[in-house]
Amino acid sequence: MIDHVAIVGAGFSGSLAAINLLRHDGPRATLIDRQPDAGAGLAYGAAHPSHLLNVRAANMSAFPDDPDHFVRWLDRRGLGEAGRTFVPRLAYGDYLRDLLDRAAADFPGRLRIVRGDASDVEAQDRVTIKLADGDCVIADAAILAVGNLPPHTPPEIDAAALAPARYAADCWNPAATAELGADDTVLVLGTGLTMVDVVLLLDAKGFRGRIVALSRRGLLPHAHAAPGEPWVPIKERPAPVLSRLVRTLRERAAAIGWRSAIDELRPFTQDMWRAASLAERERFIRHARPWWDIHRHRLAPAVATRIAALQESGQLRVVAGKIAFATERQEGVAVDWRPRGRSDTQGIVVQRIINCTGPQGHLHRTSEPLLHRLTQAGVIQPDSARLGIDVDEQMRVIGYDGVPNDRIFALGPMTRGAFWEIVAVPDIRNQAWTLARRLSNAHWVAEGL
Ligand SMILES: Cc1cc2nc3c(=O)[nH]c(=O)nc-3n(C[C@H](O)[C@H](O)[C@H](O)COP(=O)(O)OP(=O)(O)OC[C@H]3O[C@@H](n4cnc5c(N)ncnc54)[C@H](O)[C@@H]3O)c2cc1C
Repeated sequence: MIDHVAIVGAGFSGSLAAINLLRHDGPRATLIDRQPDAGAGLAYGAAHPSHLLNVRAANMSAFPDDPDHFVRWLDRRGLGEAGRTFVPRLAYGDYLRDLLDRAAADFPGRLRIVRGDASDVEAQDRVTIKLADGDCVIADAAILAVGNLPPHTPPEIDAAALAPARYAADCWNPAATAELGADDTVLVLGTGLTMVDVVLLLDAKGFRGRIVALSRRGLLPHAHAAPGEPWVPIKERPAPVLSRLVRTLRERAAAIGWRSAIDELRPFTQDMWRAASLAERERFIRHARPWWDIHRHRLAPAVATRIAALQESGQLRVVAGKIAFATERQEGVAVDWRPRGRSDTQGIVVQRIINCTGPQGHLHRTSEPLLHRLTQAGVIQPDSARLGIDVDEQMRVIGYDGVPNDRIFALGPMTRGAFWEIVAVPDIRNQAWTLARRLSNAHWVAEGL
């Protein structure tokens, strides 16, 4: 019998798991987060006003069984038409905090929020979540909703040998984009959505120096477009074979446009991933993932326009290549990088390097204390593609014994090894809702009853 669920992480995943437990008349919930601001998490908590959602508001409801919920919330605040487009991420943070506040008010005594750093989870008849300050939370089940792991420092950069102001390992730390001179050059590692956020932040803070963004392929995320003509979506899941998937995508892109061809796959991607062999998954990650990411996870049009303007003005240069080495000098860091497809290197002196290479998931390489501890103890293990925490279809973590754990679950981006498409709100909301219904014993009741 599950009366009480403890959830580690109060970002979107953990908060929505808690709220859905209460909505389904399920177990009471304790949300544990090391940050003071429960609800918004990394994505929506400390955003800048220039950071927009990269999904239209109409697709950002927190509830799969109430798809217009976020738009109605915006409408009530007079945001009207803006609700149909791309609104600031800060507004979404307010929405999530509001949902948590309402859940606490509507279900008195059933939601507790604890500020603390979870350092261990032990499961026997019950589950004990140990906190770094010596306290603990005892529950009947635990959900790990810890978000993404931070990126690794590339091996060519010896962070310890660089002055702290020269290298920002954590691009979300305000210091990463602070105290730069007008003539400085910033090297951003990575050219994806995180790079775009950091460039917008530098821009908003008035930085007018040069920005060089470097990644292996130098691919930038594409932009959303105005909704096009309606089309007849595919009805069947394409075969999870990379070569056939590429062929299907090409054919459909020619018929309905590449954006629609990608979007119509969404209902099938988790199934396709599940049906693919490990070899197919690894091929996809190696060869197709960079292209998938830039087409799948798109920019709000206004953001794409600003990035294009910065490129046109010459302030932002996006290049393809790899760092060869980096050495601290008096005037900055001398970086030698090898352009893609060439054997010679080019040199550049930069005053700061900001790591925007994106989240990592490999549990054996993490220094994050809780996940490190649970991996060492064999409570969790890396999934076969080394993308995160191994879970089964019911989100039960799988330990080194290969047995799904009936008391410990995982949610969100760290379950991408099992689900792949589990990064953005439209997917995580389904996952949080499904798990909460299962833990509330509501999953056998038809939706909406
Ligand atoms: C910058 C950014 C922008 C995004 N924009 C969009 C968007 O516009 N649209 C969209 O659909 N998706 C977007 N996403 C993707 C998606 O919405 C997020 O990844 C999602 O919010 C993930 O939420 P989460 O709760 O899993 O992780 P997080 O938000 O990272 O929350 C995890 C929480 O766990 C806590 N935590 C971790 N370990 C511990 C521990 N040991 N003890 C206590 N607390 C712990 C952390 O403090 C954190 O608050 C964005 C993601 C990012 C990073």
